[in-house]
Amino acid sequence: MKISSSALTIGVDIGGTKVSAGVVDSDGNIISSDRRSTPASGGVELIATITDLITSFQSQYEIAGIGISVAALISADQGTIVGAPNIANLSKLNFVEELKKSFSLPVVAENDANSAMWAEYKFGNAKNLNPVMFFIIGTGMGGGLVIDGKLFKGANGIGAEFGHMNVQPNGIKCGCGANGCIEQYASGSALMRYAKEEMKADPIKAKELLKYSDASGDISGATLTTAAKQGNEIALSAFNKQADWLGSACASYTLLLDPQAIVIGGGVVEAGELFLNPVRLAMEKYMPFAGTHSLPKIVAAKYGNDAGLIGAADLVRG
Ligand SMILES: [Zn+2]
Repeated sequence: MKISSSALTIGVDIGGTKVSAGVVDSDGNIISSDRRSTPASGGVELIATITDLITSFQSQYEIAGIGISVAALISADQGTIVGAPNIANLSKLNFVEELKKSFSLPVVAENDANSAMWAEYKFGNAKNLNPVMFFIIGTGMGGGLVIDGKLFKGANGIGAEFGHMNVQPNGIKCGCGANGCIEQYASGSALMRYAKEEMKADPIKAKELLKYSDASGDISGATLTTAAKQGNEIALSAFNKQADWLGSACASYTLLLDPQAIVIGGGVVEAGELFLNPVRLAMEKYMPFAGTHSLPKIVAAKYGNDAGLIGAADLVRG
């Protein structure tokens, strides 16, 4: 069923702690939104929460489709959860089938990073570029890829999981079960590890950094961003290490995909050019066939927490 371009759709973004939903128009604008806590028991209760949100929007708007964005791996044949590290009782759940029991509307379900990638490609900072790839950098590291106007999924739905490329044989153990994934060197968790290592090695510099600490007296990603903007040595060094790894990954992926743009999203974007510029420099430093080809643009994501919701709402338009 083809959805008309003037119709409104609903996007639902399911994260480990929050379920955000919104009514979205065909230009990616959120007309109305609401959020709930992700039910701790997941599964059946989660479907009830989503159903409730959708029903409430339906009482106010004429809705033409539902797009689900979820922090989980989804099978390539649509809808079945293959793995969800942060949400309970999702294994084998099929969002598309469950929601079609209650709503006679088109429904799609997509991984959150893929949904966010789609929002950036359709309406954001990678609009009309081809191919485009996306790194979403938070505690972990997700990925997305659009080639010739289509979200790339691969044969089993694990395509474009860019955070899990091996960059260090027998390296640090990763949550995915493998060792030495780029996630362990270029994620927000890695940034914190670099900072803590340097604090341990140099207590005087550590004191300087702790001036920026939060109420609990500990450091966080936000602490490091603020401190780096003020020129703090440890914070800048930690960001530079993270950027160096990410830049080297960008160089490798450029050889694989030759993207026009690499979009970087997630919490790390708060650091802005302070982070993106070292990523560009590292990518140039590690680039094979340097000087013989143009380089992808490294850009910050336009959308923050709404990216998954906006992308999923558009994906149901088919
Ligand atoms: Zn991994």
